[in-house]
Amino acid sequence: MSSKRIGIIGAGTAGLHLGLYLLQHDVKVTIFTDKKPAEYSGMRLLNTVAHHAVTNARETALGANHWPEEQYGYFGHYYYIGIPGNPLRFFGDLRAPSRAVDYRIYQPRLMEDFENRGGRIEYREIRGNDVAKISAEFDLVVVCTGKGPFGQMFEHDKRNSPFDRPQRALCVGLFKGIKERPIRAVTMNFSPGAGEMIEIPTWTFNGLATALVIENIVGSDLEILAKAKYEENPRAFLDLLLQKLRRHYPDCAERIDEKEFDLANGPLDLMQGGVTPTMRKTHKVLEGGKLAVALGDVHALVDPVLGQGANLASHAAVILGEEIVKQDVYDERFVEHVDNRRNDRILGAMRWTNYMMTNLAAMPPELQQYVLAVSQNRVLADAFTDGFNYPERQWDCFASPARMEAWIAKHADEPTNPATARPYEPRKEPRVAA
Ligand SMILES: Cc1cc2nc3c(=O)[nH]c(=O)nc-3n(C[C@H](O)[C@H](O)[C@H](O)COP(=O)(O)OP(=O)(O)OC[C@H]3O[C@@H](n4cnc5c(N)ncnc54)[C@H](O)[C@@H]3O)c2cc1C
Repeated sequence: MSSKRIGIIGAGTAGLHLGLYLLQHDVKVTIFTDKKPAEYSGMRLLNTVAHHAVTNARETALGANHWPEEQYGYFGHYYYIGIPGNPLRFFGDLRAPSRAVDYRIYQPRLMEDFENRGGRIEYREIRGNDVAKISAEFDLVVVCTGKGPFGQMFEHDKRNSPFDRPQRALCVGLFKGIKERPIRAVTMNFSPGAGEMIEIPTWTFNGLATALVIENIVGSDLEILAKAKYEENPRAFLDLLLQKLRRHYPDCAERIDEKEFDLANGPLDLMQGGVTPTMRKTHKVLEGGKLAVALGDVHALVDPVLGQGANLASHAAVILGEEIVKQDVYDERFVEHVDNRRNDRILGAMRWTNYMMTNLAAMPPELQQYVLAVSQNRVLADAFTDGFNYPERQWDCFASPARMEAWIAKHADEPTNPATARPYEPRKEPRVAA
């Protein structure tokens, strides 16, 4: 066992993936968190997270992949772009499956892994001024929550945080009564000017349900979905939702059995709110001179529309773990090493997500051209879809109109697989993880 001692505040994906990595490398680690595993099943829906193949591979390496993708995964994305009078529909494959498991199941399971492998969890609410005290016991404290005072602890990175408020009003729930498509896949629906809706096949307490992540443009016809109260009148809420789905997302509405359609396991399966995309600086020097490092949402908070936040948290957790193991001094030079390795993906995800949210409503000519090209060419649709694993490559494409044009030209020259030549036909045999 190494003599290094690391303290982690928060047992979300960031804290747990870092904690499991450090245990694997014989580093002594304590997680401080405010909730016990048994409390999760009685909590409101936390989010609806899809892990992409790159994250699933990390979980396998951590010995924490309890939901094998062959059984629990999904295999691609259907796209519906609701251009009035000329809606576009197409499909793209993932090279290896993604997977969504309700975090009220996922997180307690990984907390058990952590404790079963000798990790220590202290269950208590940490306050801002506890951090300096905690740091006396550790070589490094890693903060993995942005709640309350922790959001303010790390300096706001204004250059990379262009918004001061949420860009979408969210209405997110786990639903039953929505028929699956021919192949298990996410559906990304776009209603230009009104918002986006992501359907995710999600494993929850009673088996498979459909997460609807309804991202509503503030001031649009859909914004009301983020405010309507299910608990006050479930029937009225569902009727309103059905009416909006028929109007904006007809491909989903037509797969709904209206008699069965409801929250999958009761009122706690709904969350409403908004996310202000925010980057913060990586570290803070604590009283006494030791460092606190930010990891996960507290470092980079992205809107959920492209499903990047937890995948980034996991990516950054393993990089931070590798640097903690490799280095002996946790100072500002250490932070530079961490930043150099994690920031391309983090900034890529932040910029790509912000670009999409801003431009999907306005649809500038280069994005129209991009969407049209991808909808007509399966090679492009596959490349775009698998790119959800690698947001820095997506940003390589979307960073300027010239890059978008070059990306189309480059991928359009790749040979088309005759089995997938038609843009809207899913492959018969989905590709599985390499
Ligand atoms: C609707 C929605 C859908 C999403 N979909 C996706 C997706 O498809 N793909 C994706 O990658 N990301 C997605 N995300 C983002 C993802 O949920 C987050 O990026 C990710 O969960 C962040 O993990 P974290 O470990 O940084 O923080 P958290 O998961 O917030 O963990 C924080 C931890 O700290 C603990 N804690 C909080 N306060 C205290 C305290 N005072 N003292 C002690 N402990 C404390 C909490 O109990 C928790 O254990 C989505 C988010 C939302 C809202």
